[in-house]
Formats: sequence, structure tokens, C-alpha cells
Amino acid sequence: MKIHEFQAKEILRKAGVPVPRGVVAKTSDEAAAAFKTLAGKLAVVKAQIHAGGRGKGKVKGSEQRGVELVKSAEDASRVATGLLGKELVTIQTGAAGQAVRQVLVEEGCDIARELYLGIVVDRASAGPVIMVSSEGGMNIEEVAEKTPELIYKEQFDPDAGLQPYQARKLAWKLGLKGKSVAAAEKFMRQLCRVFVETDASLVEINPLVVTGAGDLIALDAKMTFDDNAMFRHKDLAKYRDIAEEEPTEIQAAAAGLSYVKLDGSIGCLVNGAGLAMSTMDLIKLHGGEPANFLDVGGGANVDQVTEAFRILLADKNTKAVLVNIFGGIMRCTTIANAILAAYKTVGFNVPLVVRLEGTEVEEGRKILATSDLAIIGAEGLTDAAKKVVAAAGK
Ligand code: ADP
Ligand code: MG
Repeated sequence: MKIHEFQAKEILRKAGVPVPRGVVAKTSDEAAAAFKTLAGKLAVVKAQIHAGGRGKGKVKGSEQRGVELVKSAEDASRVATGLLGKELVTIQTGAAGQAVRQVLVEEGCDIARELYLGIVVDRASAGPVIMVSSEGGMNIEEVAEKTPELIYKEQFDPDAGLQPYQARKLAWKLGLKGKSVAAAEKFMRQLCRVFVETDASLVEINPLVVTGAGDLIALDAKMTFDDNAMFRHKDLAKYRDIAEEEPTEIQAAAAGLSYVKLDGSIGCLVNGAGLAMSTMDLIKLHGGEPANFLDVGGGANVDQVTEAFRILLADKNTKAVLVNIFGGIMRCTTIANAILAAYKTVGFNVPLVVRLEGTEVEEGRKILATSDLAIIGAEGLTDAAKKVVAAAGK
């Protein structure tokens, strides 16, 4: 689960991690009022969307940036007007952009240095790792690609937390001096603790700012949580913003389907996550691109399969669909009947390749063969992948 910057900052503030004061606004009047509440000479108006790169991003069809410095209440109101209800396009949103529904009006910060700090779960060491870099600001991806030696890492034990010597080592690599060293030690250790306590999968502070006075403050904050741990974080559930999530993924979750939208042209309807993964692999091996990951599960019924088809066929990018079912608990007859039911209720506008194996396979194939549906039958996974790639026109 992803959350907004202002929500992440709320969590950090409670945990004792320094963040700037800020007020969320949903209208331009609220933004002007927020500027006055902050009572400073400078403030920053920041679009709140579940995507980064806002500083360099622009509102569709205008020159409005996603993050802008303002010097008066009128200014704050003007920028909020430029952002609210508009689509912000950043390096992470894709060309369609993402609608801005709220802005964060935040006190302006006296920036001496912009650093980078990220915490993720490292698969290699099977534990959390903190990464820092002196090259903070807006393009850490470029640093990782071109000068990876400028990124310093420390693995830490989730129970013991980041050790003081580890934090000091990182502070030294960042070239911090004087009181900033102690501030960094406290900042990093607290942040590592929040990461573990909230079952986060990512915490990213970019930039982590050293102020003119030598203090450290989180100027940006991104947090992502492990969905599988949400059952023990009822307090975090309120941060979920459905409006920011993929509508078809919400629809699929409601029907009990595991679905992830992707950018390709071949819709996949598969039972079992492992089979779904290998189906996607084979499609790619034969030159195609999957439009989604979809696991209908071991015991899916006709309604769920119909819903799955509805989701797949609603995707404008889908040029062909591959149904790949290994009937274990799921019977091939269930799938065959579901295909016919879906055809009646949803209608098919793209070619359909079907590969069935397992329980009641002969009966299932017969149901399809005796229907008047134009289905491309396939024997085996390779054959199915080749046929669907050809049908999609690639
Ligand atoms: P994004 O990563 O989405 O571009 P950031 O929150 O990192 O958004 O903001 C982009 C840049 O805007 C920062 O690198 C910083 O230079 C500036 N900025 C953000 N918040 C403030 C603030 N409160 N005061 C001063 N400058 C800020
Ligand atoms: Mg940032």
C-alpha cells in the first residue's frame, strides 16, 4: 500500500523524525489560509499524488510544476488553482498523468545540502538495508545508474535496529560535520525503527536536507507498506487512498482475483500464481508483452471468471487473450462454461486462445468445440504462447 507524502510525514512526526510544518488543502482558499496559518515568508505548495518526480513534473497543457515556492497567500492560492483538479505528468506517472485532489502547503526550508536516504528490504541479505547518498534531490535513479559508488549502504538487524556506529559511518561518508553528525545518527536510527515497526517495504527521504543551522529534516517522504502485514496495522488502513489506485485492481480484489495491470497487449487468464508467472515468461520469450497478471485461484467459480474476462477485455490495450488453465481443484468444464457465459454477458472483441489441461479436460474442450465461439485451441504452453503472440499481431 502506498500513501501520500503528507501522511508519511504525519507518521514520521509522531515517531520523532523531524519534518517541516504543513497543512493539507483541497481548495485554493484553503491553500491561502494554510499559508497564513504557517505565518512564514516562504512556503511550498506540493501536489499530493502517489508518484514522485513532482518537482520536475508539469500539469498537462500548462507550465505549472508539481512543487512550487510561494511568497504570499495569493501566490499559494494561484499555485493551488494551477494544480487542483488537474492532471500532473511526472517521470513516474506515464503520459496520462495523475489527478491532483489535494496539495500540501508546507513551510519553506533553508536548504544547505540535499541528501538522499532510502530504506528497503534487501533480497540478497534477506533483511532491511539503509542507503544514503550525498547526491540527493531529484534524480537518484541517475546516480544509481551512472555513479553507484556514491551510494552507501548498511544492512541492519530488524530487532536490534541500526547501530550507532553504523549511523556514524554513514554520516561520515556523507561528509557531515559538527552537530549534524549527532542529528543524522538520531534521524537514521529513528527512521529505521519506523520502517520496522510499520512493516514498511520502502521509506524514501529525497531530499533529506541539512539546513543552514546544521539540522536534518525530511523534506520529502515516501512510504510503502507490505500489504500482507496490513492486518496488524489497523491504524494505517485510514491512509489508503482508493482514488490513487488502479480501478481494475480494486474491482479484481473485490471479486477475489489477484490482478496486476501491466502495459502489454496480451491479456492472461490463468489459475495459480506460479502458472501465471510462467505464462507471462513464455509470452515474453515468444516476443509478446503481457497486459496483466491474473490469477483466478484454485477454486474460482463462473462469476469470478466472468468478472476476470470483463476486467481483461475492458483494457483498451488488450489485443488478444490467453486462457491457460491447469485443472486441479478447478475443473476445465467450469472454465469452458465460464468462457461461454462471459461471451454472452461481456462479448469478445479480440481473439481468444485457450489451453486446457487436467480435471475434466475432454469435457471442457467439447463444450468449447460445440459452441459457436471462434476459439483458437492450443496444445501445451509453448504452442499457446506462440499462437497468442501471433493473434495479437506481434
Ligand atoms: P518530488 O520528489 O516529487 O519532486 P520533493 O518533495 O522532493 O518532490 O520536492 C522537490 C524539490 O522541491 C526538493 O528537492 C526541494 O528542493 C524543493 N522543496 C520541497 N519541499 C520544500 C520545502 N518545504 N522548502 C523548500 N524547498 C522544498
Ligand atoms: Mg523528492
